[in-house]
Amino acid sequence: MSIDVTGVTKKFGDFVALDDVSVSLPTGQLTALLGPSGGGKSTLLRIIAGLDSADRGRVSIEGVDATNLPAQKRNVGFVFQHYAVFKHMTVARNVAFGLEIRKRPKEEVAARVEELLKLVHLSQFAHRLPSQLSGGQRQRMALARALAVEPKVLLLDEPFGALDAKVRKELRDWLRRLHDEVAVTTVFVTHDQEEALEVADEIVVINDGRVEQVGTPDELYDTPANDFVMSFLGE
Ligand code: ADP
Ligand code: MG
Repeated sequence: MSIDVTGVTKKFGDFVALDDVSVSLPTGQLTALLGPSGGGKSTLLRIIAGLDSADRGRVSIEGVDATNLPAQKRNVGFVFQHYAVFKHMTVARNVAFGLEIRKRPKEEVAARVEELLKLVHLSQFAHRLPSQLSGGQRQRMALARALAVEPKVLLLDEPFGALDAKVRKELRDWLRRLHDEVAVTTVFVTHDQEEALEVADEIVVINDGRVEQVGTPDELYDTPANDFVMSFLGE
C-alpha cells in the first residue's frame, strides 16, 4: 500500500508549481520531500492532504482514490507551518479538539488525550497554554493533535523549521521514534539535506515542480540521478 500521486499538475495563474508529478510513497515509511525553496514541496503536501486541489492528476491513499475527497475524509493528520494552534485553549484541549468536533464520548476523549500527551512527553504540561511551552514542545503538541484522530498518514511541513539547532535535533530523533512506535506513514517536507538524509527512510527530491529522484539516503548519495541531485546533496 502507498500514497500514489499520478500525473499531478498545479498552476497558480500561468506559473506551473507542479508539472505532471507522479510518485509513490510507501506505507509505513518515513519519507522526506526534499528540495530548494519554491520547488513545490508544500504544494504537493497540501494536495495530498486535500487542502488544495490539483488542476490535473490523481491522489490515492492506501488504495482509495482520494482525488475528490475533502481533507476530513482522507484519514490524514497534518502539521503545517502557521497552522492554527488555539492560543486560548490549554494543551489538553488543543489535543482534544479533533475528537470533540467528531463528537466522541467525553471519557474516550479524556483517555486518548492522556495517552497522546504521554506519547509526546507533555503530560505535565496538559493544563498550560501553548504560549507557556517552548518551540519544540509546541511542535510536539501539534503532533499529538494531528495523531488524535488516529490517521493512517501523517503529513508535516517543515516541522523543524523554526527551532534552534539543539531542539531540532531532539525533535528529529523524537519524530523517528514516534514513527517507529505508532507506525503511521509519515511524510515531511524539508529543504535541509542533512535533515532528510538523517531522518528519512526514503527521500523524494523535488525541484522546479518536478520529481528529480526517489531513493533511500544511500541510493541518493551513491547514484544521484542527475547533476541537480548531485550538487544539491553536495551543498
Ligand atoms: P516549497 O514548499 O518547495 O518551498 P511551494 O510549494 O510553497 O514550494 O511553492 C512552489 C511555487 O508555487 C513557489 O514559486 C510559490 O511562490 C508558488 N505558490 C505556492 N502557493 C501559491 C499560491 N497560493 N499562489 C501563487 N503562487 C503560489
Ligand atoms: Mg514549503
